[in-house]
Amino acid sequence: MDILKQDIQFIPGIGTKKAEILNKEINIFSLEDLLYYFPYKYIDRSRIFLIREIDGNMPYIQLKGKITFFETVGEGRNNRLVAKFTDGTGFIDLVWFKGLKYIVDKYKYNKEYIVFGKPTVFGSRLNIAHPEIEPAEDFTDKKASLYGLYNTTEKMKNHYLNSKAIQKIMFNLLQSIKQPFPETLPEKLVETLHLIPLDQALRNIHFPQNPDILRKAEYRLKFEELFYIQMNILRYTRERQEKVNGFVFDTIGDYFNNFYSRNLPFELTNAQKRVIREIRRDVGSGKQMNRLLQGDVGSGKTLIALMVMLMALDNGFQASMMVPTEILANQHFENIQEFLKGLDIRVELLTGSTKKKKRAEIHEALLAGEIHILIGTHALIEDTVVFSNLGMVIIDEQHRFGVAQRARLWKKNTMPPHVLVMTATPIPRTLAMTVYGDLDVSVIDELPPGRKPIQTILQHENQRASLYNFIRKQVQAGRQVYIVYPLIQESEKMDYKNLTDGYEQIKEIFPEFEVCMVHGKMPAVEKEEQMQRFVKNEAQIMVATTVIEVGVNVPNASVMIIENAERFGLSQLHQLRGRVGRGASQSYCILATTYNISADTRKRLSIMTDSNDGFEIAEADLKLRGPGDLEGTLQSGDPFDLKIAHIVKDAQIMQYAREVADAFLDDDPHLEKPENQIIIKQLERRRKSIYNWGIIS
Ligand code: ADP
Ligand code: MG
Repeated sequence: MDILKQDIQFIPGIGTKKAEILNKEINIFSLEDLLYYFPYKYIDRSRIFLIREIDGNMPYIQLKGKITFFETVGEGRNNRLVAKFTDGTGFIDLVWFKGLKYIVDKYKYNKEYIVFGKPTVFGSRLNIAHPEIEPAEDFTDKKASLYGLYNTTEKMKNHYLNSKAIQKIMFNLLQSIKQPFPETLPEKLVETLHLIPLDQALRNIHFPQNPDILRKAEYRLKFEELFYIQMNILRYTRERQEKVNGFVFDTIGDYFNNFYSRNLPFELTNAQKRVIREIRRDVGSGKQMNRLLQGDVGSGKTLIALMVMLMALDNGFQASMMVPTEILANQHFENIQEFLKGLDIRVELLTGSTKKKKRAEIHEALLAGEIHILIGTHALIEDTVVFSNLGMVIIDEQHRFGVAQRARLWKKNTMPPHVLVMTATPIPRTLAMTVYGDLDVSVIDELPPGRKPIQTILQHENQRASLYNFIRKQVQAGRQVYIVYPLIQESEKMDYKNLTDGYEQIKEIFPEFEVCMVHGKMPAVEKEEQMQRFVKNEAQIMVATTVIEVGVNVPNASVMIIENAERFGLSQLHQLRGRVGRGASQSYCILATTYNISADTRKRLSIMTDSNDGFEIAEADLKLRGPGDLEGTLQSGDPFDLKIAHIVKDAQIMQYAREVADAFLDDDPHLEKPENQIIIKQLERRRKSIYNWGIIS
C-alpha cells in the first residue's frame, strides 16, 4: 500500500482520539495530509535575548535564566500560576492558567532553563503566558536553528495538539520514514529549473537545516503547487479551444443599429468602442467567448452590456443579465427599458420577489422565445428558468457570485452561451488570469467626458455642525445625499440600531426634507419602495447600509457621506464613492471618522482623498494591508486549497509556473509522452482540490 495514504491514527503519537480531532479541526486524514501541513512561520532559535532588551512588540523569543520562585494568584477562573524568572538583566513573569500542579512539580528553582514564548508588556511588568521551557543542558545545537510553528485550534490545544506537539509528531514521523519521498514533478523539470527534490523539500520545510535551504524548499513546493494549478487551467483552456464551439454572431442588424442611431443618448468613449470591438471579434470567432470586463465605477459598463446583448438579438438569440442584488436588478431593468424606448424589444425582470403569476408568465414566454432580454438575480439560475435560445450571458459585479452559480448559467442552452463578466473591482492581471481561469480581459480605462472629479474630504466628529450645514445647502440647491453606515458585525441587532438611530437623528435635524432608509435585511418590496422614493427625488436623503454599494445609479445624488469610514476597506469606500459623481454637478464624498483614528488609518484614508482611480487605490491598499482585503472582494474563498503558495504574494512564481506549464503542453499537448505520465498522475491526485476551475469562467 502507498504509505502516504496511511490513516493518521496509526502514526506514533496520534491514535484514534487525536486522529479524530485532526480530522475534524484541520481536515487531516492521511499521512500525506499531515506531511503537507506546513509551519506557518519559523522562529530563529539560534538567538537568545536578554530580558533587558524586551519591548512591547516582539515576536517569539528565547531567554536563558532561572526561576526564583512560584506563586499562585487570583481565584476561581482567574486562578493562575506565576513564576519569577530572571537572567540577571531583569525579571519576567511566566504565567500558566492550566496544569498548575504539574508545572510546579516539574521545574526546579535555580536551575538553568531556556524559555521560549511571546512576551507581553503591562506597564513596567513583563510576562510570557504558557511558555515552553527546556533545561538549558538539553538545548543542543541541533535545535539551535529555525523552528517551525504550526497553526492549531483551541480544540487541538485542549487535546495536547499544540504547535510543539505537532512538531514532535512530525519529527518522529520523518525520522521513521527512511526511504525518500517519491518525486512529484517530472525529473527533467526538477533538473532544468534547479529545484530541490521533493524529499529534501518536505524534510526541510518542517525542519530547516538553515535559512538558505528553507528558501529553496519553499520555492520548490510553491512552484509545484502553482504549476499543477496552471497545468489544469491550461489543459481546460486548450481543450475548450479545440472542442467547445460558440455561437457565431456574424450579423450586426436592426436591433443594434436602430439603438445606435436612434436611441444612444451620447457618444461612446474610445474605451467603450474598443471593448465592443474586442467582444465582436470574440463572438464572431466560432469559439465561446469568456471575457472579463474591468472598468472603474461610472465608466459605462452597463451600456456595453446592453449593446452586446443587442448583438445576440440580431443573431436570433436571447440574452440575459444576472446581478447580485434586487435593487440593482430593478435599476438595470428600468435603465435598459429607458435606453430601448420605442424599439420593439421585450425585456423582463425576474427576481426573488417576482410574483408567482408573473413568474409563470415569464417562464412560458421565455421558452416560447418571446422575451428578448431577461434581467434578474440568482432567481435566473433556477432550473425552472429555461430559455428558448440563450446566446449571451452578462454577469454584472461578478465578485458576489460563486463559481458554481456561473456554471449553472452555462447549462441553459445546448451549446454554452457567450459570457461577459463585468466588474469594478480592479484585480492585478496575474491574479485575474488565475482566479478567473482563462478569461480574456478587457479594460475600460476612460470615464465618459465632462465628469468633474469627486472631491473627497476627511471629516472628524467635531465638525458635525458644518457637515449638516453643507448637506442642507446641497439639498437646497436641488441635490440628493446618501448617508451610509457600516456593518459592524458584532451583532446584527446593534448594526440595525446604529442605522435606525442615525435615521431618526437625520430626520430630526432635517425636518424640512424627506428621508428614506434602505438596509439589507429589509423585505425586497420595501427596499424597492424606499429606493424608488430616492430615484424619483421624493426623498432627498437616503440613509443606508452598504446594500447600495454595488451599482446604484442616481445621477442627481451628489453627496456621499460615509459614517465611521475607518471601518471600511478602501475598495469598498471607492465603490461607495462611485455612487456620486454620475451627473453634471460637482460631487462630494465625505469620510466621517471618530476623533481618535490612528496614524495608519489616517494614512489609509488619505489614499482616498488623494486619488479617484480604482486601480491606484487597490494597489495602495494591497501594499498597506496585504492581500486580505482583495481576497475578501474576490470572495471565492481559497478555491485552490493552497497549502503554501499565496495567490497574491506569489504572483510571480504563478506567472512563471504558467509559462512552464504552457511550454510543456506545446511540446506534448495531450501529455502522452511516458516521462509526462507523472503529471497526469499528479493532476488526478490533486483533482479533488482543484475542482472545475477554468471550465466555468
Ligand atoms: P458602471 O461602469 O459603474 O456600471 P454605468 O454603466 O452605470 O457605470 O454608467 C454610469 C453613467 O454614465 C450612466 O448614467 C451612463 O448612462 C453614463 N454613460 C455611460 N457611457 C457614457 C458615455 N459614453 N458618455 C456619457 N455618459 C455615459
Ligand atoms: Mg454598473
